Amino acid sequence: MTPPGAVPTAAGAAGREPAVDLDDVVREYRTGGEVVRALRGVSLRIDAGEYVAIVGPSGSGKSTLMHLIGALDRPTSGTVRIAGQDVARMSDGALAELRNAHIGFVFQQFHLLNRTSAVDNVALPLIYRGRNAAGRRAAAVSALEAVGLGHRLRHRPSQLSGGEQQRVAIARALVGEPRLLLADEPTGNLDSRNGAEVMALLERLVVERGVAVVIVTHDNEVADRAHRQVRVRDGLVAEDSAAPTVPTDVVTPGVPAPADTPA
Ligand code: ADP
Repeated sequence: MTPPGAVPTAAGAAGREPAVDLDDVVREYRTGGEVVRALRGVSLRIDAGEYVAIVGPSGSGKSTLMHLIGALDRPTSGTVRIAGQDVARMSDGALAELRNAHIGFVFQQFHLLNRTSAVDNVALPLIYRGRNAAGRRAAAVSALEAVGLGHRLRHRPSQLSGGEQQRVAIARALVGEPRLLLADEPTGNLDSRNGAEVMALLERLVVERGVAVVIVTHDNEVADRAHRQVRVRDGLVAEDSAAPTVPTDVVTPGVPAPADTPA
């Protein structure tokens, strides 16, 4: 079923729309009389199966960009499409549904419920999907097995190492089978060995499940483990390691511009 407000997109050669597609996105914050232009015209397309790191100094606009990619915010101008849907046209409720259906979040601080077992933490997002208890549990067990924690189902967060807690958080982000997984400094609270394990796990999810993984980090070593690096500076994409793809409907090589063609 096509949700209301969904805009048919040029789905591209692969036959499906990008996980997220930003076109000339501006985001301004107004505080008192002052306007801060946190993003000044960002265009960025991320496809399924991409492993992208967004890097940049503090204040460059990374969190703002992350919130837009995660459907937590709307642009001041420009277009943000997530799974083909233009977020500007959507109500808050529809945005929440879009997030629940398509996006998994992972945070530096894990944000697990401390008195709740790993399996119940992971099953939690499925309550909003209307799945019954047995179905939720089966999906949570399978997600925990996918992150190598099938033997830690009944453990509470305090009984797990930092690396294991982050893997539980990744399982929770995955359990709804999102097409996009957003991770904000996912290794920020981990030592280098656990950090490397989390990065390798995210890479495996990209390869095996075709999920688009986007991490935000200020750590260049972490960013280098991703397949694509997007560097943000002063509210703009200053560098993108992926070769830009030219939309075929804009430029047709070899065809002269109409204005140059005599009648
Ligand atoms: P980063 O995540 O790279 O540190 P942010 O996206 O948080 O950068 O911030 C980009 C700019 O926007 C900064 O100048 C910041 O002060 C400003 N900014 C961010 N959020 C707000 C807000 N809610 N209100 C006003 N200004 C903000």
